[in-house]
Amino acid sequence: MAVIKGDGIGVDVTDATLAIVDAAKNKVGGFSLDYQFIQAGAAYYQQTGQDIEEGGEQVAGEADAIFLGAIGLPSVRYPDGTEISPHLRLRDRFQLYAGVRPVRAFPNGPKRLSDTRANDIDMVILRESTEGLFYTAAVHNRCPVESDHEVQDVMSITRDTTEKLHDFAFKLAEKRKHRGKKGVVTCVDKANVFKSMAFFRKIFDERHANYSHTEVNYNYVDAQALDFIRRPWDFDVLVTENIFGDILSDLAGGLVGGMGMAACGEIGDNHGLFQPAHGSAPDIMGQDKANPLAAILSGALMLDYLADKSANTQLADAALLIESAVYDCFSDNTIRPMEFGGDMGTKAVTDTLLERISR
Ligand code: ATP
Ligand code: MG
Repeated sequence: MAVIKGDGIGVDVTDATLAIVDAAKNKVGGFSLDYQFIQAGAAYYQQTGQDIEEGGEQVAGEADAIFLGAIGLPSVRYPDGTEISPHLRLRDRFQLYAGVRPVRAFPNGPKRLSDTRANDIDMVILRESTEGLFYTAAVHNRCPVESDHEVQDVMSITRDTTEKLHDFAFKLAEKRKHRGKKGVVTCVDKANVFKSMAFFRKIFDERHANYSHTEVNYNYVDAQALDFIRRPWDFDVLVTENIFGDILSDLAGGLVGGMGMAACGEIGDNHGLFQPAHGSAPDIMGQDKANPLAAILSGALMLDYLADKSANTQLADAALLIESAVYDCFSDNTIRPMEFGGDMGTKAVTDTLLERISR
C-alpha cells in the first residue's frame, strides 16, 4: 500500500486512519499490510520544487492501493498559478474512472432533514471521473473555441469508459445486497436533452442486459436533485457523469454531514486511490480539530477494495468492523466530533474508535 499523507490535516487524518486500519487488521487477522510512504504535496513542493518525490508515481503504480490524506495549500502554487495537484496526475495516469462516494446517515450524526427516514439514508454515488464535461478543462486543458466572444467546453462520453462504469455500478449494487439493500441502480443523466447523455443511458441499458436480475431506475439530474431533498432514503447506487456526480455528491453529502464525513474512492481497472473528499483545511491544521472519519471511512473502502482484489474476505471483515464501529459509536453517542459542535478532536475520536474496535 502506498501512503501519501500530503498537506495540512491530511497528515493527521492519515495517521488516524492507519492506526484504525492496523487495529482492525489485528482484531480480524488473516492478512498483512505494508506501507510505503511517498512524500508529495504543496509543502513538499515548497521545500524541493517537486510535487511528488522522485519515483513516487512509480511506487504508487506498483502498490496494491494508494491512500491519500489531502493535498494542496492555497499559498503554494505552480508557476501557472494553479494549486499543487500531483494526485490529479495519478487519477489521469491510472485512469481512475469510477469515483465512489458513499453517502450514509449515522445515528446522532448531523442531519439536515427532519423526516425520521433521513436516518435510513445509505447510498453510493458513482461519479465517472476521467471524462464528461470535465474533459476539456480538467483532462485536456484546452477548449475547442476560446475567444473573447465565445468559449466552449466539451462533454465527451466514450463507450469504453461508460461500459466499465456501468458494470462497476451493477457489481456494486450486487455487493450491497449483502448489507440489506435492494441492489437498485439509478442511472442519472439528462438523456432528454444531450446526445452524450442519451448515449450514456443507451450503454446503461446494454450493460443491464448482463445483470438482468438487478432492478434499475432512471432519473434526470434535475429531478434527482429534487429527490435528494424529498426522498434520499429511497436510493441505493446512482451512476452518473462527471460533473453531475460532482454536484450531486456535494448535495447528498450535505444531507448527512460535513466534509469530515465524506469518504471517497477513485478506482480504475488496475489501481485504486482512497482519500477523504475534503481538502487540507489549512484553517484548522495542527489544532487537533479535524474530523478523521472521512479518512477512516475511506480506509474502510480501501480494505473492501483490497478484499475484492485479493479474494481475501478477512479484508472485507476488517472494513465492516471499522464501519460498524463508527456506526455504533455514533449510536451510543461516544463519538462527538468538534466539526458538529461536539467536544472531540482528531485524537479523541480516533482513540474512541480504537477502543471500540479492539473490544
Ligand atoms: P479543496 O480545494 O482541496 O477541496 P477546499 O478549499 O474545498 O479544499 P477544505 O480543505 O475541504 O477546503 O475545507 C473546507 C472547509 O471545511 C474548511 O473550513 C475546513 O475547516 C472544513 N473541513 C474540511 N475538512 C474537515 C474535517 N476533516 N474536519 C473538520 N472540518 C473540515
Ligand atoms: Mg473543495
